[in-house]
Amino acid sequence: EIVVRPFERPAEKIGQIGLAAKSVIAVGSGKGGVGKSTIAATLALGLHRAGSKVGLMDADVYGPSIPHLLGITDRPHAENNRLQPVVVDGMPVMSMGLLVPKEEAVVWRGPMLHGAITQFLKDTDWGNLDYLIIDMPPGTGDIALTLSQLLPLTGAVVVCTPQDVALLDAVKAIAMYRKVGIPLLGVVENMSYFACGGCGARHDIFGSGGAKQKAAEMQIPLLAEVPINVDLRKRGDDGRTVDNFDDPASAEVLMGMCRTLV
Ligand code: ADP
Repeated sequence: EIVVRPFERPAEKIGQIGLAAKSVIAVGSGKGGVGKSTIAATLALGLHRAGSKVGLMDADVYGPSIPHLLGITDRPHAENNRLQPVVVDGMPVMSMGLLVPKEEAVVWRGPMLHGAITQFLKDTDWGNLDYLIIDMPPGTGDIALTLSQLLPLTGAVVVCTPQDVALLDAVKAIAMYRKVGIPLLGVVENMSYFACGGCGARHDIFGSGGAKQKAAEMQIPLLAEVPINVDLRKRGDDGRTVDNFDDPASAEVLMGMCRTLV
């Protein structure tokens, strides 16, 4: 049974961990591989491009893919006893993957994860932010619970694909966020359809309309339907996710998604 601790003094809590952010948004999913990290990075980059002060924190200890997606080769350095995030395209980024060997984190139990995430948040010098976007681990409630105790999270965005099984997992993730008292800001349906460059037709590879219907049933806004895009995948593989906005085919739908959070 999960026991949720209410925020008696949220301001002090923010002071305690030394984070000054107007809005803290968790990006989660029911399972891995649905594009959660891609969407988290894209949301952060889009808000940053739109002129907000944004930080991106990769808390997906089990599969920290933000360093890869953003092509990060630098390591965070310490200054004034605090860790300075790596800067990508002018945006501060921190990942558990830059600090902890993956083999180590995957065997951590709840209390160790709790300690690591708390320290990670406390020790990082984010400066003053408008938004801190957190790439959450898929499924599990451990880190969501820890973060909900440490920070007054503004809310969560849940990423899913249109497939029935993925939607079932997304529904579980939504229930988990609700249970720990994190408001749901919306659902992003990723890999929604494939727009064929050859024949121009829209192919619904994983089915269609499922996320829209589920979101409506659960009274959560559907923030975007992001199509399968080979270039987006290639840029991810090459560590060039920052270039997603330079490509007119992706930029419109991705910027539209970011604007829903402003
Ligand atoms: P997760 O964080 O859910 O595990 P990732 O963001 O790491 O997922 O994405 C998994 C893979 O799918 C990556 O190779 C990524 O480039 C690719 N991908 C994500 N979204 C799309 C999309 N809309 N079109 C094509 N490939 C995508």
